[in-house]
Amino acid sequence: MIEQLRKDFPLLHKLVDEQPLCYFDSAATTQKPQSVIDAVSHFYQLENANVHRGAHTLSADATTKYEAVRDKLAQYLNVHRSEIVWTKGATDSLNLIAHGLSDMLNQDAVIVLSPFEHHANIVPWQQAAARTGAKIVVLPASKEGVLDHNASIKLIHKLKPAILSICHASNALGNIHDVKSLIDASKAYSTITVVDGAQSFMHLKPDLTQLDCDFFVFSAHKALGPTGLGGLFGRFNLLNSLPVYQTGGEMIDTVSFSGTTFRQAPEKFEPGTPNISGVLGFGAALDYLNNIERDALIEHEYALYQYLVSNLKNIAGVKIWGDTAHNIGVVSFTYKNEHHFDIATLLNTYGVAVRSGHHCTQPLMAHLNIPGTIRVSLAFYNNQQDIDTFISALIETIEMLEE
Ligand code: PMP
Repeated sequence: MIEQLRKDFPLLHKLVDEQPLCYFDSAATTQKPQSVIDAVSHFYQLENANVHRGAHTLSADATTKYEAVRDKLAQYLNVHRSEIVWTKGATDSLNLIAHGLSDMLNQDAVIVLSPFEHHANIVPWQQAAARTGAKIVVLPASKEGVLDHNASIKLIHKLKPAILSICHASNALGNIHDVKSLIDASKAYSTITVVDGAQSFMHLKPDLTQLDCDFFVFSAHKALGPTGLGGLFGRFNLLNSLPVYQTGGEMIDTVSFSGTTFRQAPEKFEPGTPNISGVLGFGAALDYLNNIERDALIEHEYALYQYLVSNLKNIAGVKIWGDTAHNIGVVSFTYKNEHHFDIATLLNTYGVAVRSGHHCTQPLMAHLNIPGTIRVSLAFYNNQQDIDTFISALIETIEMLEE
């Protein structure tokens, strides 16, 4: 089944420096199936028109197809279509939310984050805190990089935060967080809960009605879709209570030189011409994700992850960081005191594409007291051959470094 699926991803068959590509950077961005590439080029070849405007057929057809993807996405996340806002990506979504929620913050307010957050889920809150005097408090975690769940729940009860914003899964370590219980704990205090789903959107297919969060953000490119597109879920009433973010055409009801009135969500947050080809490409990505045998692929991904972890554990000097018991398939490791960049550069000569560095989580690296890691991030289209190639390349890399 995997070998059949791999045929759908043209780039997986590319030679990099004359070596077959072993792609282990899906946490940065996933590869794209041909159907997504086709949907984008089909739009420009045969369907190109602006949406929500013209009376002409091309525009009406583009609008219908574009809005149908909002329905598809709402179904995927199990929420209502009016609660889905298109953005440029998870970063853009978090900025929109932090900007909007600033109005409810003051110097008595607490914003709770975790040590695992991507900079995109830290810096917008720091800006909001600087504007309003609110305080940021970080949940506790072990020195190995695992959230202290019980202490976190206790801290939430103690702090009664105005906002809890936490990643569903860590991009740096792959840890899956039990966000549901953190959300439930904060319910008693009318805390606004924000889930950064950039890494969970594809791997965990979250049911947002069941998760019961107030906001959820994601990026299309981490779930087989095009870059430059993402979105957010927000509860309808909450979305409508937020101030507008960016302004311009499409998001207004009426404009005159004496003032402007705005539309309701989601249009209120979607000014200007949207990323139409991106949305149509993402529609094809959602079709792809909906049509594969998901449970079997999750099992395959997890089996590969365990195979990778057990092979790495056999290499003396390798240290794996984070929670290997609850993980979306990301292995983050260091080797003795060797620099992560040197190892990643040598691995690249074997066609092995990994990420090295701080993974946009500098506070997490500071907490672990390391400058960075080598990150191997899996997706369902990886196979055992990829892992075997990686392990033998790593062993040779280590031999070279030790010489
Ligand atoms: N949050 C997490 C957990 C991420 O992994 C990423 C991307 N690495 C982001 C936010 C930001 O996503 P984007 O760069 O697509 O806006």
